[in-house]
Amino acid sequence: MSFQNPVFIPGPTNIPEALRKACDLPTMDHRSAAFADILHPAREGVRQIMKSADAETFIFPATGTGGWETAITNTLSAGDRVLAARNGVFSDRWIDMCQRHGLDVIVVDVAWGEGIPADRFEEILVTDTAHQIKAVLATHNETATGVASDMGAIRRAMDAADHPALLLIDGVSSIGSMDFRFDEWRIDIAVTGSQKGFMLPAGLAILGFSEKAMSASRHAALPRTFFDINDMSSGYAVDAYPYTPAVGLMNGLKQACDMLLAEGLENVFARHQRIAEGVRAAVQAWDLSLCAVDERVYSNTVSAIRTPDGFDANQIVRHAAEKYGVAFGAGLGQVAGKVFRIGHLGSLTDVMTLSGIATAEMCMADLGLDVRLGSGVAAAQEYYRMAQPAQLRKAA
Ligand SMILES: *Cc1c(COP(=O)(O)O)cnc(C)c1O
Repeated sequence: MSFQNPVFIPGPTNIPEALRKACDLPTMDHRSAAFADILHPAREGVRQIMKSADAETFIFPATGTGGWETAITNTLSAGDRVLAARNGVFSDRWIDMCQRHGLDVIVVDVAWGEGIPADRFEEILVTDTAHQIKAVLATHNETATGVASDMGAIRRAMDAADHPALLLIDGVSSIGSMDFRFDEWRIDIAVTGSQKGFMLPAGLAILGFSEKAMSASRHAALPRTFFDINDMSSGYAVDAYPYTPAVGLMNGLKQACDMLLAEGLENVFARHQRIAEGVRAAVQAWDLSLCAVDERVYSNTVSAIRTPDGFDANQIVRHAAEKYGVAFGAGLGQVAGKVFRIGHLGSLTDVMTLSGIATAEMCMADLGLDVRLGSGVAAAQEYYRMAQPAQLRKAA
């Protein structure tokens, strides 16, 4: 890897200089009043980025995976039934975690590349008249396949079935990059991490809890200590943690929220959409296809690109790292070797993205694929020239 180059993996994402500096704090007594000036603005910023008026936000020294564990252990009990779709590696891992915690998971398997079938969820929820399903789990953006599912449709399916289950959403690769509406979708728990849309190093699990999820936590019997939100709430009430917080990262989070909110959330989403459209124009020019089956599920944060049959897509990732010092995402799980991924979220501009597209082209040409140098770059250039200019990010 060359540190001069941006990364094109879907997390960890490129860290803006201002955020690197914000994370670099001298040691602070985390039980002093100074910590409150980091803790509360960071929690408040997260709430705004999730588009919620009054969600309780929690920040754990962990990663997105710890966020999943926080969500299930604080609201569920062993043997509880939950409903989840499996359409990629991340949804699969969350299901596996539920099973290891002794939950009874109704798994709806769909082809990788497809979104979560809200209609199937509705059918299942309608038949559950005894309301044995305690939670519906949904991965907003499947990072393995580059598939975004419609969270509003999941909420409507639950409403149509008049079902009281909790709605738990993995927004790890969408929150802060794609439109996310905690209140409007009546989400009960949203999970994310610091190293994707928030443009920080890994190390924080970031969650929002609805009032309903908060009250579920009072009866939920799955064991939890480190991830207990009630212990965390007691800490927050006195401007502290039940243990030692990751102060530097939290200061970074406070600044990251300020940066995203200063750009304007709708501008942030438009920038991601615009950058993604350029990448998709390049993929089309290469005559390759996305793993995502159609435009209704295209992700604006990551594109998983299918390579021709018989070609090992991992070669592109290895070659890009070795020859050009650039990181792309490898295919995971069922699509390992079949796709390579271009991550296009976080701190990225059109111009940076063109360099990633150009590098992918060089790699494919080097490896003997039938890709004409400049074809994808030109398609993206045309798109970026003609599309509305992205709002320039204000200096933080
Ligand atoms: C990255 C990611 C995770 C896992 O997060 P970690 O921070 O690596 O634990 C979970 N879900 C999705 C959709 C992701 O993209």
